[in-house]
Amino acid sequence: MMGPPGSGKGTCARIISKIYGIPHITTGDLLREVASEETERGRMVRGYMERGELVPDEIVIGIMEERLSRPDCEGGFVLDGFPRNLGQAEALDRILEGKGVSLTHVLNLVVGDDVIISRLSLRRSCPRCGAVYHLKNNPPRRDEVCDECGAKLVQRSDDREEIVRHRLEVYEEKTRPLLERYRRAGLVREMSGDLPIDEIPEAVRRVLESG
Ligand code: AMP
Repeated sequence: MMGPPGSGKGTCARIISKIYGIPHITTGDLLREVASEETERGRMVRGYMERGELVPDEIVIGIMEERLSRPDCEGGFVLDGFPRNLGQAEALDRILEGKGVSLTHVLNLVVGDDVIISRLSLRRSCPRCGAVYHLKNNPPRRDEVCDECGAKLVQRSDDREEIVRHRLEVYEEKTRPLLERYRRAGLVREMSGDLPIDEIPEAVRRVLESG
């Protein structure tokens, strides 16, 4: 999945994971787990995330290498939030080559900055199972409680407006240029990041199965 923060990568990746029965690998969630550890590494990762900066490659790549080596990835997987810069894209190529597989699609979600900022301020996430809600467009059935697992929903501290603006700058500078690389490889499919939630499964199928 590619697209700026708040473009709907997580929602879309969860749907792809359900349709095709493959794991949804969210780098942000894996890093939030590390950030909750009371270790030097945990504190360092937490600092980068709270500022909306990319966590250093050596940490992220190590975590992804370990995650992708697990047996549930053997039948395919959907990556959400990785790679986010050139060093990570090169590392991903190496990891996939080692596994004898390659990327089949890069699904790019297209959405404007104004939508992103208003959307992230209304986003609530489940700290236990990772489900994502929008208080207006996709609210939980019970106020602030996760439909899937019953945990109390939270607003991510990096979803505050000034941090979101910085995350968008980081995206423009470091991540968007990767699209060119994947376009040259013929892998990129564009999809609107602003579809009503019940239209996403059909749109995903159309985009991924049209060759
Ligand atoms: P996300 O949940 O994907 O928006 O990611 C939240 C935060 O986690 C980002 O602002 C970064 O601080 C960190 N992060 C997530 N994915 C990566 C990555 N691939 N490389 C470096 N930092 C990342």
